[in-house]
Amino acid sequence: MIRTEVLILGGGLAGLSTAYHLDRLGPRGRYLLVEKREKVGGRAATEERDGFHFDHTGHLLHLHDAYGKKLITGLLKGNLDSHERSTWIYSHGVETRYPFQANTFGLPQKVIAECLGGFFRARRLGRALSRNPSFGEWVEKTFGAGIEKHFMGPYNRKLWRTPLRAMTTEWQGRFLPTPKPEEVLYGALTDQKKFFGYNAFFRYPKHGGIQALPDALAARLDARGVALGRRVVSVDLRERVAVIEGIGEVRYERLVNTMPLPEFLDLASGLPAEARAARRRLRWVSVHNLNIGVARPRVSRAHWIYFPEKRFPFYRVGFPTNFSGNVAPRGTSSMYIEISRDPGTRIDRGALERASLDGLRAAGVLHRFDRVVSRLWIPIACAYVIYDRARTPAVATIMRHLKTRGASSIGRWGGWKYSFMEETILDGRDCARRLCGLPVETKTSRVPLQSLK
Ligand SMILES: Cc1cc2nc3c(=O)[nH]c(=O)nc-3n(C[C@H](O)[C@H](O)[C@H](O)COP(=O)(O)OP(=O)(O)OC[C@H]3O[C@@H](n4cnc5c(N)ncnc54)[C@H](O)[C@@H]3O)c2cc1C
Repeated sequence: MIRTEVLILGGGLAGLSTAYHLDRLGPRGRYLLVEKREKVGGRAATEERDGFHFDHTGHLLHLHDAYGKKLITGLLKGNLDSHERSTWIYSHGVETRYPFQANTFGLPQKVIAECLGGFFRARRLGRALSRNPSFGEWVEKTFGAGIEKHFMGPYNRKLWRTPLRAMTTEWQGRFLPTPKPEEVLYGALTDQKKFFGYNAFFRYPKHGGIQALPDALAARLDARGVALGRRVVSVDLRERVAVIEGIGEVRYERLVNTMPLPEFLDLASGLPAEARAARRRLRWVSVHNLNIGVARPRVSRAHWIYFPEKRFPFYRVGFPTNFSGNVAPRGTSSMYIEISRDPGTRIDRGALERASLDGLRAAGVLHRFDRVVSRLWIPIACAYVIYDRARTPAVATIMRHLKTRGASSIGRWGGWKYSFMEETILDGRDCARRLCGLPVETKTSRVPLQSLK
């Protein structure tokens, strides 16, 4: 039986960052990181097909933390471009700027009137939010009925597949911009070119797609501690023994999980019934990501476009060739199309592809005679954690029990949260610090994020 001080499950950014920081904080050779794929990266991987580099939908670097920025820009030194976001919403036959609530200019006048009327009525009524409001209540009281009707409601229902009244506001405080009344008014009267939100600027590798980031982290690890193509099949949390395909039994002192929390709990034994019951309360949505290559350069000016209307099967479409000119053959464009479904739903890929291409033609993104020269479906079984009323107490219960077994669960899906690559890397750093008995700064998760240029 193999022994290791720290067993890390998963070679995505959370696992890689934990290993990277363990190496820097203490003696080397203390961990074994196991990853089921033959390459690192997890959801921050890039797949190559027909000369295209397809990420698992858009993976752009939004940097907000001084340490995160220093580490990531250092890892990708010489291989990073900065971009000012060009992001749009397609509805009522026109493209308007993101965010919808600050940019109704260009929409039909009746729609603008409904949005402004609702917004100022909500302000005039000044109804206080209840103590623990639902996302639906927050939307209605913050933006009013018109913005809810034309964007917030349909877009969020399409993505989350959950009634807004059943969701909490825990996740959105950092991500959704709340413009001032004068900005809402100005953005209805004119094409307001102001940047709002956590992702106003982003960085993206010049070469290699987002895979360049996990590869750069992995290149700094001791290769003897990294086992690729090795799937964890079971973990006995009481005995602290994991079974790994191709390796066998591994006895560990501390465990760091970065696999999606429900998947991990389903293969783990040694937790009490309370933790199992909490596991059953976790909910999420899957994303079916269709990537295509098109034989025409610059099919859009956008980095990505939101599609709130029901007639489009997708909620968002992005254009990687506008992030980097090196992710596709010369003279072509690439696009990622994101479709949300309940987990386990069987989809008809052929039908969805036809409906998606028809939708893109209807929106004027694709022309009638555009040729699709490459396609790649990437299923993301666990894509967005649903923040309903059950999520936070369930996660707290599970984490408490894992801690008593010397295990932690981190990252976007291990930590069961809505987050992004920089934060995932910081989760790995914090986990390594805890394993080394060092203090960790706790940050509030509700303060709006600001992009660092
Ligand atoms: C649709 C979508 C868009 C996103 N866009 C952005 C963006 O633009 N910018 C941004 O910053 N972030 C974005 N993110 C978030 C980003 O993907 C995550 O923050 C980050 O990749 C999380 O990394 P992780 O290590 O926590 O998880 P993962 O990347 O999932 O890593 C977990 C690893 O565990 C491995 N694993 C699973 N099961 C087993 C097993 N049984 N045995 C061994 N290994 C196993 C997996 O293969 C994987 O490599 C997006 C996420 C989604 C879903």
